[in-house]
Amino acid sequence: MNFLEERILRDGTVRPGGVLKVDGFLNHLVDVGLVNRIGAEFKKRFAGVEITKILTVESGGIAVAVIVANCFNVPVLYAKKTRAVNMDDDVLTADAYSYTHQTECRLFVSKRFIVPEDKVLIIDDFLANGEASLALASMVESAGAEVAGIGIVIEKGMQKGGGLIKKAGYRLESLAIIDGMDPETGEIRFREQ
Ligand code: 5GP
Repeated sequence: MNFLEERILRDGTVRPGGVLKVDGFLNHLVDVGLVNRIGAEFKKRFAGVEITKILTVESGGIAVAVIVANCFNVPVLYAKKTRAVNMDDDVLTADAYSYTHQTECRLFVSKRFIVPEDKVLIIDDFLANGEASLALASMVESAGAEVAGIGIVIEKGMQKGGGLIKKAGYRLESLAIIDGMDPETGEIRFREQ
């Protein structure tokens, strides 16, 4: 069992509807020491891959993505879920159904922040049905840039996202893959990697 799986077992909570709550260390209160180890692990897994930018989506992915960007010494860009008046007119957009909010949402990124020369590593805290990651990938490609890979902190392997991402031909690295969760007993089963 790796450091992340141990922490999920210790502090994660299984909620009904296939939701894992990790807000005590990952996406609300953030354990920076843990996220530093996550960043180092992504750096190891994507060693030798050319990466010029990290892309994530607000808000859950930002803390991890900032630290990963620091590990790769590249900038981090996050897609916004609302378009503020001060955002550029020229934007890339993609739609994603939010698993946790259970609504369709539109993601926005200013066009000038992804250039065709970019090799973009997409980072997110969770992978469920692949909506967020695939929407980010479509924005990268619509800018004429390349998806260098997709790095996920926690993949819920019983959902379809992992399969869809691999089928689309992207390299996927998930630091913990959950194959089953029981909200009654709190049991969490990890896939051996
Ligand atoms: P997907 O787009 O792959 O269906 O879902 C991934 C997104 O939904 C992530 O950005 C994450 O914010 C959220 N998400 C999906 N499943 C969970 C979960 O079990 N727990 C939490 N905290 N967020 C989740």
